[in-house]
Amino acid sequence: MRVNKIRLHWVQIPLHEPFRISSGAVAVKDAILVELESAGVTGWGEASPMAGAFYSSETPEGSWEFLVQQLVPAFLGRPELDPQRCFERFAEFPGQPFAKAGLEGAVWDLHAQECSQPLWALLGGTSRALPSGAAIGLMPTVADLLSRVERFLGEGYRRIKIKIEPGQDVELVRAIRERFGDIPLMVDANAAYRREHFAVFDELDRHGLMMIEQPLAREALEEHAELQRRLKTPICLDESAESLEAIQKIIRLGSGRILNIKVQRMGGLWPARQAHDAAQAAGIPCWLGTMPELGVASAQGLHLGTLPNFTYPTDVEASARWYVDDIIAPPIEVGRDGLIALPEGPGLGYRVDPEKIARYRIRYREFST
Ligand SMILES: [Mg+2]
Repeated sequence: MRVNKIRLHWVQIPLHEPFRISSGAVAVKDAILVELESAGVTGWGEASPMAGAFYSSETPEGSWEFLVQQLVPAFLGRPELDPQRCFERFAEFPGQPFAKAGLEGAVWDLHAQECSQPLWALLGGTSRALPSGAAIGLMPTVADLLSRVERFLGEGYRRIKIKIEPGQDVELVRAIRERFGDIPLMVDANAAYRREHFAVFDELDRHGLMMIEQPLAREALEEHAELQRRLKTPICLDESAESLEAIQKIIRLGSGRILNIKVQRMGGLWPARQAHDAAQAAGIPCWLGTMPELGVASAQGLHLGTLPNFTYPTDVEASARWYVDDIIAPPIEVGRDGLIALPEGPGLGYRVDPEKIARYRIRYREFST
């Protein structure tokens, strides 16, 4: 099978509100959509770094340059349309997991459509709706935070996650517990704490949290293990879970009891599935995280998220939660029951809307064989 064309569309969609975590804020969502055309079928993928190296060292500019200069030309020279082999093939280039995930996602979508199967079936998942959790960034006041929690609980979300940083942690959790009682609640520190803050976690440990996400630095696996030993609350590794090797080390050291698996960071759906399998074999439950992505990558993540060891609610939220618009139809929606049901049909189940892509596109490249 030959590849006829690859088109790259860099889009920017404004956010309803800036997304704030302990390391900064961003007001627009960048994504590079990969459109892969072969024998009359079109597959879509999405490379989705946030501007300003928000969560990782990848940037939209860096991913774009790598796709344009290296990955796409190499792929066209020797196309790999078996999606289970893409990640291995791409290993000839170091790093750049987001860009690789974008191209690999397009290969998966193409393959699923050619097989007339939903993506989840090819990934080994099941036909199920996924529980969705709401994530709330650092807010200006506790009152603002409480009103957000109230809104998201009212919208049906299955758990609430709040961002914390030193100086804004225990009092936030206490205020939520006082007002809303025993709701499913977790905190995400985005690696903002150090050993000198361990007493904060002893305090948080009294509040029955579902988990504490990434309290310490990405590379601090031994210290995470030490902190986990003194806490009842499970630690969930996010930033630390950056590769299969890192996940094996987390498992070996006991650095945490839960993993947040992100397709973009792992470099594609297949390596993310391997991460899921490694965690399952070690008795470590997972959930599907986001960067967050636009509709194409979110939908692909949701398909993967139907695998059995993704037992906690996903961070994938409704398209309208963050973005003033999305490039798929229908948009991703969370039901009143807090569940995201994937549409039926082959591939993603969602349609990519070319008019929206044209509207939000800031850069475009087409490659032909
Ligand atoms: Mg996180």
